[in-house]
This record gives sequence, structure tokens and C-alpha cells, in this order.
Amino acid sequence: MTAPDCLFCKIVTGDVPATVVRRGERTVAFRDINPQAPVHVLVVPTTHQPDAARLTAADPALMAEVIADAVAVAEQEGLAGTGYRLITNTGRDAGQTVFHLHVHVLGGEGLGGMTG
Ligand code: 5GP
Ligand code: ZN
Repeated sequence: MTAPDCLFCKIVTGDVPATVVRRGERTVAFRDINPQAPVHVLVVPTTHQPDAARLTAADPALMAEVIADAVAVAEQEGLAGTGYRLITNTGRDAGQTVFHLHVHVLGGEGLGGMTG
């Protein structure tokens, strides 16, 4: 299921272009348009859920697949030895701006403290 006005649903269907780096059975990973680190990839489920809480409630196995694919992306991008950060912003105070669950994969340089 996709949501009609959702940017990341449109990336999943190919209606909005993106640089896809990995496709799982139920996930897609693509480069962030405004990278915050040398490697900055977003991993999303192909079905629409707004955030981590809603996806976990609806389909915890799919949430686990998204996390597993984020780890696979980090390894594919050569970050396994140097380290990386997985982030999923949830809601207003976290600064979430796109309400289709996504996990950020960040790496390729020192990332600083907890808040970057
Ligand atoms: P959030 O703040 O919701 O956790 O992260 C949303 C992310 O989506 C941001 O890092 C932003 O740069 C990225 N983004 C926004 N619009 C687009 C787009 O059209 N294409 C891609 N590839 N990334 C986008
Ligand atoms: Zn969506």
C-alpha cells in the first residue's frame, strides 16, 4: 500500500527519481538528497507507514527487515570496519520531516557525539 501524497512512496514506485543502492524484498535504500556525511543512505519499507512506532505496531518483522537492510547497506558502503550510525527520527521533537518510516545510514567520517 502506498500513500498518494507521500514523497518516499513515489521514490519506491519510481515516480520521483533517486539513486537506489539496494533493493530488498520489501525495502528500498537510496541516497539522501542532502547528505550529512560522506555516506548518507535512507532505507524505507515499500509499504507506507509514517514512523517507527506505527510500522513496529503494524508489522514488526518488516521493521526488523528495514534495520537488517540498513546494516547491509553500511557493509555494502564499506563502513563495517570504521563504523556508522543508524537513526530514525520519530515525530516533531526529533525533527522528522518525511512521514514514511526511514532509517538513516550515516558514515564515512567521524560523526561526533550523540547529536552529531
Ligand atoms: P527526516 O528529517 O524526516 O528524518 O529525514 C528526511 C530526509 O529525507 C532528509 O535527510 C532529507 O534530506 C531527505 N530528503 C528529502 N527529500 C528528498 C528527496 O526528494 N530525495 C531524497 N533522496 N532524499 C530526500
Ligand atoms: Zn509513503
